[in-house]
Amino acid sequence: MLIAGNWKMFKGPAETLAFFDAFDAPEGVDVVVCPPFVSLEAAVGEEWPVYAQNVHWAADGAFTGETSAAMLVELGVQGSLVGHSERRLFFGETDDTVQRRAEAALASGLKVIACVGETEAEREAGEMEAVLRRQVAVLPRHACLVIAYEPVWAIGTGKTATPEMAEEAHGLIKSLHDTRVLYGGSVKPENAADLLSQPSIDGALVGGASLDAASFSSLCRIAASLS
Ligand code: PEP
Repeated sequence: MLIAGNWKMFKGPAETLAFFDAFDAPEGVDVVVCPPFVSLEAAVGEEWPVYAQNVHWAADGAFTGETSAAMLVELGVQGSLVGHSERRLFFGETDDTVQRRAEAALASGLKVIACVGETEAEREAGEMEAVLRRQVAVLPRHACLVIAYEPVWAIGTGKTATPEMAEEAHGLIKSLHDTRVLYGGSVKPENAADLLSQPSIDGALVGGASLDAASFSSLCRIAASLS
């Protein structure tokens, strides 16, 4: 079971260190933390694997605001998210750029959590399967790539897919790509056990509930108890 915390644009270096002072995860669960770029250096000094929230495909160059995989490796970062729905929605991320980011990261030795998921409009239009097929098709087949299924309508909204809805989507993704599949979308200690006990759910990508050390510790304990 893998539990990854996506801190989005929260926690500078001082708050990052304060989080780790209070964070306590048991044995038996893989834990990853994805802080903002400015807090990566503080986080890699701690005992948990650290992933970036994004990575560029070029080794270096005139790409203002971007960071290469080699730079992350130099810092001690172990992996990166790619294709988070907020990047797709607000920053023009496409399936093509998701593919390029994932390939470059993996080639540099980073692990990757690649995010896929349908919007509410796509689900209502009956397009969930087509969207997932399209998004998964571009992802490299690689032992160090994990997929996170994050229905966009469930991210940061408090709306969670039912365990049955999540299981159905995970089953489809696993039929398309032989990898671990995490669920993401308003996961919190109260709903984690129902979701994580589904056979095709291999862990969680957690936004809001990963910001609080006590609630993220509790999620990790639940995951460990189900492993
Ligand atoms: C996320 O940011 O990937 C996420 C799933 O957020 P939340 O848990 O807050 O819905």
